[in-house]
Amino acid sequence: MHGDWIAAVGPAAAGRAPADAETINLPGLTLLPGLIDAHAHIFLHPYNETLWNDQVLKEPLGYRVVEAVLHARNTLMQGFTTLRDLGTEGAGFEDVSLKRAINEGLIPGPRLEVSTRAIVATSSYGPGPRGFRPDLDLPQGAQPVSGVPGVLAAVREQAGRGADWIKVYADYGRGPRGEAVPTFSQEELNALVAEAHSSGRPVAAHATTPEGMRRATLAGVNTIEHGFDGTDSVFRLMAEHKVAYLPTLTAEEAYAEYFDHYTRGSAPTAGMQQAMQAFKLALKNGVTIGCGSDVGVFTHGTSARELEWLVRGGMRPAQALLAATSVDARILGMESEIGRIVPGLKADLVAVTGDPTQDIAAVEKVRFVMKSGVIYRAP
Ligand SMILES: [Zn+2]
Repeated sequence: MHGDWIAAVGPAAAGRAPADAETINLPGLTLLPGLIDAHAHIFLHPYNETLWNDQVLKEPLGYRVVEAVLHARNTLMQGFTTLRDLGTEGAGFEDVSLKRAINEGLIPGPRLEVSTRAIVATSSYGPGPRGFRPDLDLPQGAQPVSGVPGVLAAVREQAGRGADWIKVYADYGRGPRGEAVPTFSQEELNALVAEAHSSGRPVAAHATTPEGMRRATLAGVNTIEHGFDGTDSVFRLMAEHKVAYLPTLTAEEAYAEYFDHYTRGSAPTAGMQQAMQAFKLALKNGVTIGCGSDVGVFTHGTSARELEWLVRGGMRPAQALLAATSVDARILGMESEIGRIVPGLKADLVAVTGDPTQDIAAVEKVRFVMKSGVIYRAP
């Protein structure tokens, strides 16, 4: 390492380290590039602690920022050196401040790519409006807009306030029986993506329905999140359009625990089976699949659970490790900075006990963490 980047990689004898270089020995450990979680909500905490509605409606912003500071530290200490945060869920633009504090070294945390408030269609997210008095003006979990001018204004505002990515909800549970249905029209989505791209920002689309996924893909989004009800043909369309997929399988497990009496390791619920089925279709169709867990729905610092789900779904352990390193780096457009241990990249390094290419659970046994050449955890 030299400064915050990797200067050389190879057997010690081949190295040309200066005489005064510091040596770190990590005997018996496996060295990995810093891990990446491409779908996180650093301002949320598990819903069995506090329901999502109550987090957004009742927790003061200052409290949520304090929580986020702790979440950031716990994430880094477990080897996740980069997160893409996909929406503050009612905490405004505070992800931009959190990112700044981390970058300035005020607090320990992962490198953050942020999307600020996220964009939703009018009355198509939460809290409410269903289930609440119609005369209440509720705080919102994202920025509600309608029509092309509304969509363009939201993209420009979020970009101007520091969003690295634009996050849009292409469908949501706003159907007559609470089922997921598309939210934005094709025209609105096309305008959103064109404006985001013209500002230099990629787009992440929440979509679980085939029609939401199809519209988002045709609009030219860069990633699709969840995709739980994705069909063979819509995953083929994503592969053709080079749209990457973040399966968030751990979130589905967490929902089952909170709301369906599921206990870990028992028979998967219908929802979990559906998510797994979608993942297998994506894999079969050659869609680029990254590691994105939706952490925040479950405990920060446990994003490694997603790698275990990727393996249960049919990836080899080495494939899951690539998803959480070089593949995620490419999805984030950061492949020339992070994701591999090669000269010239940021010195983001993690060492774990055991061999995660044999047993993926080893990624949870983190003993050493370095981000940008700074050691945060040592054995
Ligand atoms: Zn999410």
